Amino acid sequence: MVGLFRRDVTLAVLASGSAGNSTYVGDGQAGVLIDCGISTRRILARMEGMGLAGWPIDGVCITHEHSDHVSSARVLGRRLRQLQGKEVPFYMTAGTLDGTHANSKPEQVELVRSGEPFRVRHIIVEPFTVPHDVLDPVAYRITLGEVTVAVVTDLGRPTALVARKLRDCDALVLEFNHDVEQLMGGAYPWHLKQRIRSNHGHLSNAQAAELLGSSVTPRLKHLTLAHLSEENNTPERAWQAARGCLDAAGMPQVPVVVAGQAGMAEPIRLSTNVW
Ligand SMILES: [Zn+2]
Ligand SMILES: [Zn+2]
Repeated sequence: MVGLFRRDVTLAVLASGSAGNSTYVGDGQAGVLIDCGISTRRILARMEGMGLAGWPIDGVCITHEHSDHVSSARVLGRRLRQLQGKEVPFYMTAGTLDGTHANSKPEQVELVRSGEPFRVRHIIVEPFTVPHDVLDPVAYRITLGEVTVAVVTDLGRPTALVARKLRDCDALVLEFNHDVEQLMGGAYPWHLKQRIRSNHGHLSNAQAAELLGSSVTPRLKHLTLAHLSEENNTPERAWQAARGCLDAAGMPQVPVVVAGQAGMAEPIRLSTNVW
């Protein structure tokens, strides 16, 4: 019998920061990982720690070739084949595949292009271009039933395209990488400061707040701050920037959490109706 039933979509940032990134999105029937920049063992342990042991991983969507996003792809693919008894595709752009270190290249690759959505079972995944210092980086917008979330990190500046893709999401995972004053007054060498600040580096708290302010809609129910620099930011500063932005947008009810290197404390659940 076909009918309307409710199903929760779970969003879990398993790790976030320059030492490794991975986020799980699923509804118990199907699921995807965005990036796998921590070890396979850690990915599975963090999922278990969040009550997601055995939840399906039907695909892994890679944003770009930096090792903090793709390092465990090869090992993870093999492990998932053992665990789930089927091949699990790794979705990435041709540029990302080219740029990925041979030791990390997964065996099952599906090439994707910015602006061309694809399906992973009933999950709709849309890659879109972000400005970052690699060959062909993307971020992802993911829709399950009526719920849409976006995971957007590793971009040097807000763009009109990214602002459009952030609109009408139920939950966002958004980079709040650094505080500009803290970065410039800090101990990083000059070339590294310039790289982080550049148009192809990382989003500052102020840039992230600007991007959020230009794209937020009343549909937003949850905001997670991600890829914070441990040297050049504090969770408090990032949180203040995001909170101030949402309050100014008339959305004081939207919770803001910071996902650190160890991920978020507990997963976010968003309800959806599924036919
Ligand atoms: Zn990164
Ligand atoms: Zn990167």
